[in-house]
Amino acid sequence: MSVLVVGSIAIDSVKTQLEERLEVLGGAASYASISASFFSPVNLVGIVGTDFPKEYIELFKSRGINLDGMEVADGRTFRWTGEYDWDMNQRKTLDLELNVFETFQPKLPAAYKQTPIVLLGNISPVLQNHVLDQVEHPRFVVADTMDLWISTTKPALLDLIKRVDLLVLNDSEARQLTAETSLVKAGRALIQLGPKFVAIKKGEHGCLLLSHDHFFSCGAFPLEDIQDPTGAGDTFAGGFTGYLAGLEKESFEFADLKKAVVYGSLLASYCVESFSLDRLKTLTRDDIEDRYHLFRVMSQFEVIE
Ligand code: AMP
Repeated sequence: MSVLVVGSIAIDSVKTQLEERLEVLGGAASYASISASFFSPVNLVGIVGTDFPKEYIELFKSRGINLDGMEVADGRTFRWTGEYDWDMNQRKTLDLELNVFETFQPKLPAAYKQTPIVLLGNISPVLQNHVLDQVEHPRFVVADTMDLWISTTKPALLDLIKRVDLLVLNDSEARQLTAETSLVKAGRALIQLGPKFVAIKKGEHGCLLLSHDHFFSCGAFPLEDIQDPTGAGDTFAGGFTGYLAGLEKESFEFADLKKAVVYGSLLASYCVESFSLDRLKTLTRDDIEDRYHLFRVMSQFEVIE
């Protein structure tokens, strides 16, 4: 079962307190599509400029990602520059150049319209709605968002949230959107806005998954070294969605979503070990399964009869 992934495809410049990388591959759709591709075929939707390096296109192709929906437009690729504090949960956007994104109007190729699983990665909710309008009878729709859209495009975001099965956002965004300090209350308030499920990411502290009747708290895989947290959220969403698609089911139980959260978190744990997509480039399915088994042992504290 394929996944349709839409989002930014970017050239990032990233500075941590220890190191800096200039002009490397980034963007929500880049991280999400590579992550999903470990579990299922991916149809990518996005836009790049004529300056987008061929080696990145080759990387997508090497993971079997369908690029029929990736437009190459005259102009420069979207660029993002960010800097992390010593606490890597804190980052500042130093510069953002929309470039070819400014006029992007995604039009799905005919062959994409029946994609059963949809990941609306982080871009304006207006574009996310526009993409979703073009998909015929999706089986499961996941949407990611960020603080920028909550403060600038809230009505379109609220429209979108009503239409999706799972909303993914981080803890501060959940608090910002619901005006609640408790994440449990924020999660419940988000469910009232329409999605069947909500995943609240807590960075290095893991993730909460909620539905109207169920609750799951997942830790993060404990890492000794984190080089660059950029893209962790997108990699989580891609791994989550790809895993669900790989199950090839008509509908998904809460238990399926719990495992999807674990796989998403494990993919994210690999992502942050290097800058850009460097670690994901060399990752194998065996590496993922090794960490899955380790995480299973680490997380178990009692056998439930
Ligand atoms: P994350 O660390 O998961 O929040 O995602 C980081 C990625 O999001 C970077 O690679 C950026 O290129 C991309 N990004 C940053 N700001 C935006 C934005 N306003 N719209 C879309 N993508 C963005």
